[in-house]
Amino acid sequence: MKYPAQIQITGQTIPVHVQDTPVAVVYHCEACNHRSPVYTGADRVCRKCGSTDMTPTEGVIIGQYSCTNSYIRVYHNDEAPTMCGINFFHEVLEAINSINDLKLPHQTITTLAACWYQAMSSGNLISMN
Ligand SMILES: [Zn+2]
Repeated sequence: MKYPAQIQITGQTIPVHVQDTPVAVVYHCEACNHRSPVYTGADRVCRKCGSTDMTPTEGVIIGQYSCTNSYIRVYHNDEAPTMCGINFFHEVLEAINSINDLKLPHQTITTLAACWYQAMSSGNLISMN
C-alpha cells in the first residue's frame, strides 16, 4: 500500500509519518507499577507518577494519532502489509473520531478499520506494492 504524505480531514491537514520501527515501546514503572507507552522522540517518564525509573517491556505500539500535534505516525513492515495497512486505516479513523468528536468506542474503530481495509483491498482499491 502506498501511504499518503498527508491527508485532509474536515479542513485539517494531517501529515502522515511512516517509520520502520514501532512508534512506542511500553515501559514498566518501577516506582508505581504503571505501564506507560514511550513514543519515539519523547522523554521516558511515567504518565501516572512522573518517575523516570522505567524498564522496557516486550509491548510495542505501532500507530499513533496525535490530536495535540495533529499528525499520524505508523509503523510499516513489508512482511506484514495487511496488518500495517489496517493499522494505518485505524489511525485515520482515530483522527476522524477525534476531529469530529464522534466518541466512537475503540472496539468500533478496530472493527471499522479491518472491514474497511478488506472492502478496499478486495475491490482492488488498494495496491499491494
Ligand atoms: Zn509510575
